[in-house]
This record gives sequence, structure tokens and C-alpha cells, in this order.
Amino acid sequence: MTIETTKETLGFESEVNQLLHLVINSMYSNREIFLRELISNSADAADKLRFAALTDDGLFEGDTELKITVDFSEKLKTITVRDNGIGMSREEAVEHLGTIAKSGTKEFFGSLSGDAQQDSQLIGQFGVGFYAAYIVADKVVVTSRRAGRSEDEGVRWESDGQGEFTVESVKRKKRGTEVVLHLKDDAAEFANGYRLRDVVKRYSDHIATQIEMPKEGEGETGYEAVNTATALWTRNKKDISDDEYKAFYKHIAHDFEDPASWIHTKSEGKLEYTTVFFIPSRAPFDLFDRQARHGVKLYVQRVFIMDDADQLLPNYLRFVRGIVDSNDLPLNVSREILQHNKAIDSIRAGSIKKILSAIEAIAKGDEYGAFWKNFGRVLKEGVVEDPSNQKQLVKLLRFVTTISEGDDAEVSIEDYVDRMIEGQESIYYLTAETLPTARHSPHLEVFREKNIEVLLLCDPVDEWVTTHLSDFEGKPLKSILHGELDLPGGKPKEDAEDVDEDKSEDHEELVGRIKNVLGDTVKDVRSTARLTTSPACLVSDDTDMSANLERILKASGQELPDSKRILEVNPTHPLVKHMDLESEESKFANWAHILFEQALLAEGGKLDDPAAFVNRMNDMLLKIS
Ligand code: ADP
Repeated sequence: MTIETTKETLGFESEVNQLLHLVINSMYSNREIFLRELISNSADAADKLRFAALTDDGLFEGDTELKITVDFSEKLKTITVRDNGIGMSREEAVEHLGTIAKSGTKEFFGSLSGDAQQDSQLIGQFGVGFYAAYIVADKVVVTSRRAGRSEDEGVRWESDGQGEFTVESVKRKKRGTEVVLHLKDDAAEFANGYRLRDVVKRYSDHIATQIEMPKEGEGETGYEAVNTATALWTRNKKDISDDEYKAFYKHIAHDFEDPASWIHTKSEGKLEYTTVFFIPSRAPFDLFDRQARHGVKLYVQRVFIMDDADQLLPNYLRFVRGIVDSNDLPLNVSREILQHNKAIDSIRAGSIKKILSAIEAIAKGDEYGAFWKNFGRVLKEGVVEDPSNQKQLVKLLRFVTTISEGDDAEVSIEDYVDRMIEGQESIYYLTAETLPTARHSPHLEVFREKNIEVLLLCDPVDEWVTTHLSDFEGKPLKSILHGELDLPGGKPKEDAEDVDEDKSEDHEELVGRIKNVLGDTVKDVRSTARLTTSPACLVSDDTDMSANLERILKASGQELPDSKRILEVNPTHPLVKHMDLESEESKFANWAHILFEQALLAEGGKLDDPAAFVNRMNDMLLKIS
């Protein structure tokens, strides 16, 4: 392999160009965050070196005092952020500073609106990292050498942020990275000691690696520490201010916004560990990306071990950010070891409990609506994924129901149970593709009439939740699209005199005739009392999957045989009565087909042959007129 030594000019990946354009054009209001982002990268680089040196202490090259230096020149209008962390090779500089390797990138670019103010909020959520330098600089020069490599393997990376960058190999004695920002004229004010110290104090005080700046004052030379440089979580809770927690969150989560809440706990006893968990105020872009990274960092005895420690929390808590610092794990712990480790199992179980309790606390307040909008769908996965905490999780779920107002999910299962009518044994629910389809479903007619509340479930994940949740405190969950109904309070009240008689019979002859016409298209035909205003609806057998689940599975590419449904007809409906009197078999057949097809349409289903349906309808309409 030949190592490239000459100077190359390369183009940024197109997403980087887009991001740079956004950074330059829409991040005026909060410019000083550039420093937090660069210091955060340097702190990560120090953490990575400490970790790598656990197995190869030669990487320290005799210099174990890791630090970050923030320097500036008022005259040259430059700011320099320097670290002696892990550093970058030439290939790494090209890769890391020329492309975006982040899950959620596609979603992020897809969500941009073109409106600078709106988009700047989204970039904040996405996190711009290194590229934040271009908020204040019109030229950035990065010089770096990877720890452990020879002095000849340094790299110099330079770009004005306008589509291209150059890289060349340089000699570099010191390991680590130096980022020099050549400030734009309107950002020259930042090349000032007081200004920079203030920004460092505000945003980066919690950084566990020492940050140094030139001493202030006449005739002073040399550098001095400007941050506390102790890991935040090792400090006493009551000595940590809210602002410090918020700043720490922004560093570990790469989020620009404040977290919604946090929990900081120390466990002592058999296992000693500290956790700080944050609940973000907004969902990250990659919340539903299967490759999405988890947000918990693992430390062992204050040494950073790994990002994205997915064994520490279950998948359904992937939106939680934070750190776990354990005293009981070996320093050389690997992802494989984490998978079969008793200490990790108990840390995980303890952490879940803490987080669920924190969510319970949020659920008591007004902010729960916002939480639920962001993370509700993910939390629902927990009902399936985590049977041991199912009971606690179910209470945290919120639903739209036939009684709740508006489209926000606000009803808890406990609210529902409190409102159950006399004699009601089950919790009823209906799944559908969309809320309007659910709300207008003919299956709800009898429930409305009897004033029985029904949960309206329209997330794909609801289908799994309901198959894994058989009951709540002894009250079975029952789909109103399945099986025969056995509702409290007898049959629905009927107004017309002739209806009584109609409902008391099974209408065998009519049902038999419809069955004859529809044949294999349906599993069965029967008369029903569940409808009041619709002529017919489709239901599934108790053991069959719902039509909605079948649709979801088919949409995800699974091959499934078409399951047959049961057609239930409302013998009191004028259309059905009219049909019953129809003696001409071909006309009756048309009615029967239309009845079936209408029922399918009403639940949001798709007709196999829509044109035939239209022809049939037109035929009938012409006969009426
Ligand atoms: P992020 O930090 O979110 O991964 P950035 O754009 O800030 O994204 O940085 C991209 C990558 O560049 C980092 O993940 C890291 O690998 C590398 N990098 C940036 N700054 C440094 C640094 N000071 N030392 C070593 N590597 C760095």
C-alpha cells in the first residue's frame, strides 16, 4: 500500500455542503456554541486516548497529562483549540471531516423547510459538531497526528467551507489535534480572552479533561486551568447546578436544546455505580432508524469505555441519553463481555426502574403531552419487549378514545377503567390505519349507543402491543373487530317497532342467500346487533389476525395468504330489508357484493376489483332513478 503524501483537493460529500450552507446561513443567533462543539470533540478525543491506552500505554508517548488548550490572537483574528488526544490520520481526517457518518442524516435533510429560522432549530437537533466552526470562521485549518504514529504521519486539512478541502501530509511532533479558526470580520470579537473564558465557563465547565487558556493580566505569561475538570457525576448532587447538568447533557447528547429532565443516582452496596440519565425535550432524527445509536456512554472507574453501550438499556428506552460509571466492571470490558455480565444485568434492571419512575413523575404533570408525542410510540414497544416491567409501562401509555376530545392521546388505561360502565368486563379497542378511519368505523356504532368507551389504536406498533397485552388488572383487552360481541346492558335499545322482531331472529334465509352469492370471498355471513346505522361490517375470527395487521405485514413485504373475514349484516337497515325482498337473484347478487365491498371500504380496506364495484353501483343507481 502506498501512502499518499502529496497535497490533494477533495470535494465534500454533498450532505456536508448542505449542512455547511445551513450553518453559515442560519446560525447567527447562537454563534458562541462553536467553541462548545470543538471542545466537546477534543474531550472525546482525550477519552478515546485514555481508553486505547488501557491496552497500549505507549500511545501516551510519555505524556499522560491530557488537556485541551484554547488560544487566540486578537491581531491575527484567530482562535485555536488544541488537544493531545487520540488525533487523526490522514485517512481519518478525510473521512471524518469530509463526510457525515451519522444515522438520521437522511431524515434530517428530508425534514428541512428552506426557512432559515425553522431549519436552524432542526440543525440544533441534528448537531453540527465540527462544522460549527464555520459559524464564525471563513477558513479552518486542522493539523493532527494519530497517537502512536510516526512524526511523518501528520496531516494538515484546510477548507474555507465552500465545497472543497485540501489535505496534505505534514511532519508533526505532537500527537493530537489543533483546530485554527480564521474568524470572519463580524466574528472578530471572539478573539478575546474574557469573551472566550466566559463561553468556556458557561458551556464547558463540566468537561472532565482540563481546559487551559492564556493567563490574563499585564505581563502574565503561560497558561492556567479555566474549568473544574472533574467528572460531573462524581460530584455531590446538591453542588451541581441545573445549568451544569444542561451543559453536560449537550456535550454527551450532541443536542443544542436543554433536556426535559434528568436523574442522577449513586448506587452503593453490592454493586457500586453512578448513573446520570437525561430525557431529551425532542425526539432525535433517528428514533425509528433500526441502526440508530443508543445514547448511553459507559465509564469504568471514571475512564470512558464506549459510546452507544446498547446493553445498558433496552431498545425502547433508546431515546434516553446519559452515562453509567461502574466500579465493578473490568477496565478491558468489551461489547461481548457486556452481553453476559451479571453486573451489567443488574445495572440495567436498576436503570430501567429509575427511568420509568422519572417518566411516571413527568406523567403527573402537564408536560407529559409533549413527552408522549415525542416518545410515546417508542415506549409502547416496551410493552412487548419488557414483560417484567409491563405493568408499570402500561400505566404510562396514553390513548385516543371514542370519548376523548381531539386527536391527542390523553387517556390512560386507568382513566378508561374508571369510566367503564356497569357490567362492563373488558377493555375494548379498535385498530385502524388512520384515526379518521377508526372514528368512522361502523364497528363503533353499538358502543356509542351504549356509551362504552373504545380505545382507537392507529400506530402500527399497536398491533403488537395488543397481542402482547392480554389484560390490565384482570380486565381482558378485547378487539371490537374480532369475534362476536358480548356487551353489557343487553342488546342496544331499538326505536322502530318492527325492529325488535327483526333482531330476535337469525335471519337464516337472508344470511343463507348472501353466503351463496359471496361463496369463498368470506369466511361466514351472520346477522348482527352491533350496527345501528350501517348496513354491514366485516369482523375477524377470534384467532385470525386483524385486517390492519395483515395490511402492515404485507406492506413490509411479507407474503401472506388472504385471510377471509366474516360479513355481519344489520337486518334492520333499510337497504338490507330491501334486499331481503328482492326476488330476482341477479339483482340480489349485486346487492350482496355491494354490501361486502362497502364494508371493506368503510374500514379503509382495498377492493380487489374497484371497477367492478363502480359498475355495480352505477347499475343499481340507474335502476332506482
Ligand atoms: P461527531 O463529534 O458528532 O462525531 P463531528 O463533526 O464533530 O461529529 O466530528 C466528526 C469526527 O471527526 C469525530 O467523530 C471524530 O472522529 C473526528 N474529530 C473531530 N474533532 C476531533 C479531535 N479534536 N480529535 C480527534 N478526532 C476528531
